[in-house]
Amino acid sequence: MAHTVESVIARRRLLGAGAGIGAASLLAGCGLDRLGGGERDGDRAYCVPRSATQRRAGIGEAELAYEENDRAQPFNIDADFARQLDGWLEFFDARAGLGAPDRIRTYGAWIDGSGSCDSWHHSGRALDFARLVRGDAEIVSCRNDLWREAADLPTQRRRYWALAASLHRHFSYVVTYLYNDAHRNHIHVDNGASGAELARFSTRSRTQLQGVQAVCSYLYGLDVPITGRWDDATRAATGRVLADIGVGGSLTDDGAWTALMGAATGAAAP
Ligand SMILES: [Zn+2]
Repeated sequence: MAHTVESVIARRRLLGAGAGIGAASLLAGCGLDRLGGGERDGDRAYCVPRSATQRRAGIGEAELAYEENDRAQPFNIDADFARQLDGWLEFFDARAGLGAPDRIRTYGAWIDGSGSCDSWHHSGRALDFARLVRGDAEIVSCRNDLWREAADLPTQRRRYWALAASLHRHFSYVVTYLYNDAHRNHIHVDNGASGAELARFSTRSRTQLQGVQAVCSYLYGLDVPITGRWDDATRAATGRVLADIGVGGSLTDDGAWTALMGAATGAAAP
């Protein structure tokens, strides 16, 4: 448990936001994800004790490791959410064309809410992805803080958005570096909004709109500003991608979101 608390504190320090902030607010750090600008109506996180979570050494065939030291270790996580992640990884392995990771580096899943209970991490139903790795090779890095100015930025960014697309297909709430600086070193995912189902698109969801705008820009080369809003440019760009992948219609149609994000998962393959 200590490692998880330290990880939250460490990454706030990394981002220069640690000074003068109490431990309680640091713990709620990824809880910034929890409301998402009013897009989470009706969903409220809650606290569960560690004993209500499952101790997981891996997701699917990939072991879990702590991002800060790259050491394999088990993490506490909600059992149903972990099974959904098993299904997500199977999908990613089959569709991304980037190789199957044997290690997922993470900042953690469940954390002790200590009474605040306002993040899906406190419910064990959230995971922070840092990297997907196979052997010595990095498949995808979520460390935008490390690659944002790198020479291979276009490749890193395409892989990042292919991973993000696969997560957007499976979960309604996926938070990337576009949302705020706290997510420059990880992608947050939780099933607080989508529960046991695949993701559903809402035209009010800033995180989903940022995600689909980035997918249209970086994976499909379309000129669409990243506004986080369901604007004309986004309607046009998503309509074009849906037509290109043989689905047609609007992103608001049933199944269109999962179809687009499923196709985008494979769009960074070499
Ligand atoms: Zn998180």
